[in-house]
Amino acid sequence: MNILVVNAGSSSMKYQLINMDDETVMAKGNAERIGIEGSKLVHRATGKDPVEVVQPMSNHTEAIRLIMKELTDPEHGAVSDMSQIHAVGHRIVHGGDKMTKSVIVDDYVKSEIEKAIAWAPLHNGGALMGIEACENVMPGVPMVTVFDTAFHQTIPDYAHVYGIPYKYYAENRIRRYGAHGTSHRYVSQRCAQFLGLPLENSRIISCHVGNGGSITAVKNGQSVDTSMGLTPLEGILMGSRSGDVDPTVVEFIMRDGKTIQEAMDVLNKQSGLLGVSGVSSDMRDIVSTAQQGNARSQLALNIFNYRIRKYIGAYAAAMGGVDAIVFTAGIGENVQVVREGVLQGLEWMGVKLDPERNKQRGDEFLISTDDSPVKVVVIATNEELMIARDTLALVSAQ
Ligand code: ADP
Repeated sequence: MNILVVNAGSSSMKYQLINMDDETVMAKGNAERIGIEGSKLVHRATGKDPVEVVQPMSNHTEAIRLIMKELTDPEHGAVSDMSQIHAVGHRIVHGGDKMTKSVIVDDYVKSEIEKAIAWAPLHNGGALMGIEACENVMPGVPMVTVFDTAFHQTIPDYAHVYGIPYKYYAENRIRRYGAHGTSHRYVSQRCAQFLGLPLENSRIISCHVGNGGSITAVKNGQSVDTSMGLTPLEGILMGSRSGDVDPTVVEFIMRDGKTIQEAMDVLNKQSGLLGVSGVSSDMRDIVSTAQQGNARSQLALNIFNYRIRKYIGAYAAAMGGVDAIVFTAGIGENVQVVREGVLQGLEWMGVKLDPERNKQRGDEFLISTDDSPVKVVVIATNEELMIARDTLALVSAQ
């Protein structure tokens, strides 16, 4: 079965076509600037040259039409016609508080995605347009939605209810929702397989560390706490997001006449690595400038590592111990000085890093010593594959 995985945003549509017989990627691409001047599609079928089609796409339906044209193109395509695309899996950032697992798309599911637009305005709105575009262009093809928040719906109330008046929870559904759930689910499962740990009897701390990042406590295969909250602003330090701050900071930021929206922009877009260093939101720039002696880049890096370490300590406490720690995403997979900085000083809790192993590169590798009571691994995340697996399972059971 060939499954198209679609990740639609407000003005973009990323996709991968996956052959589920051997879980290989047949083609992938991105339709960019949908509805904006200068739209283009970048497409590549595996083993073929990439193509760039610069063509106006005024909406998501036009984008998916163009994607279909390229996927079935005799020269650049991956399949001979659309009937060889058997199902579509959609990535949805926010499923609100009803979507606890992946589901086949129907009107109820779409209305829940719509309700959650308030928590993920840019993404959920775009994702709905993506679903409707696929329904227009591929009528009758089964569709599944996979929610980033679903994995975190197992977090108990004492960890997901905020300490503010209860009516905001009961009436407005203000609570911890978390994010990156599909990635945390994938890497925690792979981590258990890789180490030969029984997932149903394991305590894993999953560190998804990219431009945005979150740490999740995964006990017996279920999320029991996560660092992101109502929105992706809470938690660790990020590229341009502050992570945890005292809310009173907002009041101070607003003292020079900024609106609440401008103050939130400061926390979301001008903070984090960028805000502290004044150099960049990109970890590569932070590491290189810190190595050249830039004190604020070094401080940004120190805060970054310390925050992750603090969450690891907290989640070990939350789970009554930890068997394994897994690093993933752009920084988690690639930046050894961050992994080293995070794990430094955790020997007391049984984490022994092997500096040589930490220098490796690859999709899956162990970085702790053989005698380390807590195992530490790096696992390349693969959210698209997880979405395709869920889609296959649901469509096959229909
Ligand atoms: P997101 O998906 O949240 O936008 P990513 O997971 O792609 O982010 O991570 C982006 C971050 O990872 C950037 O800070 C970037 O510097 C870092 N990164 C990605 N690849 C590498 C690499 N090969 N070496 C060093 N840093 C990297």
